[in-house]
Amino acid sequence: MNRLNRPPPGRLSRSTLRSEVLTRVAAAMPWPVLRRLVAATTRGKSLAFCLHRVGRERRPSEAEPALTVLEAVLDEFVQQMCEARREHGTAPCLTLAFDDGYADAVEYVATRAPRYPHVEWLLFVCPGKIHHGLGFRWDAYEAHIEQGRNVPSMRSFIQPPDADYHAEHQREDLAEVARQGRFALATHEQLLEVAELDNVTLGNHSNSHLISALPMHQALRDLDESTEMFEEMFGPCGQFAFPFGIPELHFQREHVEHLRRLRPLVMWTTESYPYRAEQRRAGAVLPRFVFNGLWSAKAMALWVALRARRLDRVNRATWVDSAGSPAALAVAGSNLISLLEAIAVCL
Ligand SMILES: [Zn+2]
Repeated sequence: MNRLNRPPPGRLSRSTLRSEVLTRVAAAMPWPVLRRLVAATTRGKSLAFCLHRVGRERRPSEAEPALTVLEAVLDEFVQQMCEARREHGTAPCLTLAFDDGYADAVEYVATRAPRYPHVEWLLFVCPGKIHHGLGFRWDAYEAHIEQGRNVPSMRSFIQPPDADYHAEHQREDLAEVARQGRFALATHEQLLEVAELDNVTLGNHSNSHLISALPMHQALRDLDESTEMFEEMFGPCGQFAFPFGIPELHFQREHVEHLRRLRPLVMWTTESYPYRAEQRRAGAVLPRFVFNGLWSAKAMALWVALRARRLDRVNRATWVDSAGSPAALAVAGSNLISLLEAIAVCL
């Protein structure tokens, strides 16, 4: 999970307006034009995406609907992006990373990974949740809302954590959530099975999913213990995705340095940029585009093309790059001029 902010109720936020414009412009663009746009703007760059859940239909009570993408939308996106980036020059053509280890996402990856061998599939799991059979706090929140209970905002439901993060593993409400099919996480066996596929890799996502809210010594202990637990369950750990994922908000330099000392990991954020293939090495902290499950496949493709257009903009936290230089590439302005320029390139 990576987002807790929602627009104020009853108001059309700037981001909602931007989404609306983006969706309508993208809908008017034929796929061949969009594919040329994506190919032109992302050539020579690597693209990774952060997703969470995959559904055949939407759950009426979703607390964070953007975190679930419909299967048909994701299929369309993957197919079109693979075609657009067939000749982009760096392998894999696309990285799709699913955070939190939900059963629906793992089932999706198990069926699509063989179909798309040029796509890299990463599955980030919280080993403590799998081991203890626990769900997530935001799912407990959704269950409370469904039952008509009066609960405060999701943010206050999730934070602050208990004083000791191990208390997370004793919570009966989280065990109850995990037993409800619609919030089910993949089992240990399912994860071992999907990891047998050549283009699927498992990674650690911490035990508590709360490292930004924990005192530093507890957060570092979580990183140690979740790495050990991951390796006992799945073998060597080479990938880590920061929960929520924004540098200097959800994780700090100290977390990164600790993980660099712990294992030769590739670490992932939720900053929506491309990266260069040569940046991907042990100790690197790499960006991932956050996949908005409420957008169409075309809107996602257009947004990626817009954000990937320019190079060399400085990342908000330059310390995330192990070489000391800015890790992320540029963000294109999503204003109308930028959009028209980008489209003109491809026509
Ligand atoms: Zn997560």
